[in-house]
Amino acid sequence: MIRRTHDHAAGTEAWAEHAAAQVAAAGHRAGGARTAVIESLAGQTCCRSAQEIFDQLRADGRRVGIASVYRVLDLLVSLGVVQRLDLGGGISRYEPALPGGEHHHHLVCVECGEVRPFEDPRLESAIEQTAARSDFTVDAHDVVLRGHCPDCRAA
Ligand SMILES: [Zn+2]
Ligand SMILES: [Zn+2]
Ligand SMILES: [Zn+2]
Repeated sequence: MIRRTHDHAAGTEAWAEHAAAQVAAAGHRAGGARTAVIESLAGQTCCRSAQEIFDQLRADGRRVGIASVYRVLDLLVSLGVVQRLDLGGGISRYEPALPGGEHHHHLVCVECGEVRPFEDPRLESAIEQTAARSDFTVDAHDVVLRGHCPDCRAA
């Protein structure tokens, strides 16, 4: 379990409001699966699969179907408020795209599929410099480091 700082909690709260506003602006009413999925995403510190989000909602007693979870996630991705990550294993994972561009990257174990978030300010400035030297306007980037986690290395 990753400890949540005050800043992170404030960030995800702001994200939940932002996401709900985008959903409303796109002409969708609030409530039901949309609210449930947004609340679930706001409570997480890293990415999760649709199945994991669905399992958690059911465990919390929310009456949502897996198909609606997928529909809501597709909507949130299309509105740019959720990032879809394909980290291997054929499963898409989802995490909030925080307003202000605050983000992290991922270490992925190719054996068991464990995903661990990391942040590195030096990596961010190196990417910014590369972007500035290019003739592209760069809006986003992904960094995934793949390998074996300590458990799988020990096995
Ligand atoms: Zn993450
Ligand atoms: Zn592993
Ligand atoms: Zn970055």
